[in-house]
Amino acid sequence: MDLGIAGRVALVAASSKGLGRAVAEELAAEGAHLLMCARGEAVLSEAVASADARGPGDVVGIPADLSDPVAVAGLAEAATARFGRVDILVNNAGGPPAGKFEDHDRAAWKAAVRLNLESALDLTRALLPGMKERGWGRILNITSVAAKEPEADLILSNSVRAAVTGFAKSLSNEVAAYGVTVNNVLPGFTRTARLEQLAAVRAEAGGISTDEVEAGWHAAIPAGRLGDPREFAAVVAFLASERASYVTGVSIAVDGGRTRSLQ
Ligand code: NAD
Repeated sequence: MDLGIAGRVALVAASSKGLGRAVAEELAAEGAHLLMCARGEAVLSEAVASADARGPGDVVGIPADLSDPVAVAGLAEAATARFGRVDILVNNAGGPPAGKFEDHDRAAWKAAVRLNLESALDLTRALLPGMKERGWGRILNITSVAAKEPEADLILSNSVRAAVTGFAKSLSNEVAAYGVTVNNVLPGFTRTARLEQLAAVRAEAGGISTDEVEAGWHAAIPAGRLGDPREFAAVVAFLASERASYVTGVSIAVDGGRTRSLQ
C-alpha cells in the first residue's frame, strides 16, 4: 500500500531513541521530510543519520528539551523555517518516573504535566493553524496502554495520558472538517530503553530479577512476547498517511492483545 506521504513534512518529537526513533525511520522510508529532536546532540545526530539513510526526504535534528516551553516554540519555528510547513506532528516525550501517589511531590506532577501534556499542547498550538489553512494535517500522540488500563505503579503516566486522550478526542472533533485528524497510539510493552528502566524498577520492588519481570509480562500478553518498536511505528505511519483520512479521534493500542477491554 502506498501511504501517500512522500514529500510531506513530519515533526517527530523525542526521536533519538525508542518509539520516536522508529516512527521517524518509518516515515523517512515513506519519503517524508523530517524534523527530529531530543536533548542529547550526539545520540540525536546518529538517529538523524539513520533516518536519513531510509529515504529520499531531508532529515534534520534540533536538540531541544521538550520540558522547556522556549525550546518547544523554537522547534516549531525551526521546522517551519526549514521546510515551510509541518503536515504531520508526532507528539512524544520520555515517560514520567514510575511510582505510586505518595512517591511523587508537587514538582514531579508539574514536571509530568509539562513534559507529557503541555509539550504536545504547545507543538499543536504552533502547527495546527497551518494544517487547517492547507486543509491537511495529522496529529498523533504517543501515549500508553495505561490510558485504557492504568498500571499499578505508574500513577503519573496513568493520569497525564488520560489528559492527552481527552485533549485529542476534543480537538479531533474541532478540526475534522479541515482535513486534520488527531489520534493516539498506545504502546504496550515494547522493547526500548524505557521498558528496561521499568523492568529494573519492578525487579527491585519485587525482589526478583529483570528476567523474571519480563517473563511475567510475556505471560500477560496474548502474543507471548514484547513488541518491537518497528511494529509500533508501522501503525503510526498508517495513521499519518493519506489512506487514514477518515480515521480520527481514536486511541489504538499496539500491545499484542494485552489490553483486555472491548475498546
Ligand atoms: P525511550 O526512553 O526509549 O526514548 C525516549 C526518547 O525521548 C529518547 O529519544 C529521549 O532522548 C527522548 N526524551 C526524553 N525526555 C526528553 C525531553 N525532556 N526532551 C526531549 N526529548 C526527550 O522511551 P520509549 O520507550 O520510546 O517511550 C516513548 C513514550 O512511550 C514514553 O512516553 C513512554 O512512557 C511511552 N510508553 C512506552 C512503552 C514501552 O513499552 N516502550 C509503553 C507504554 C508507554
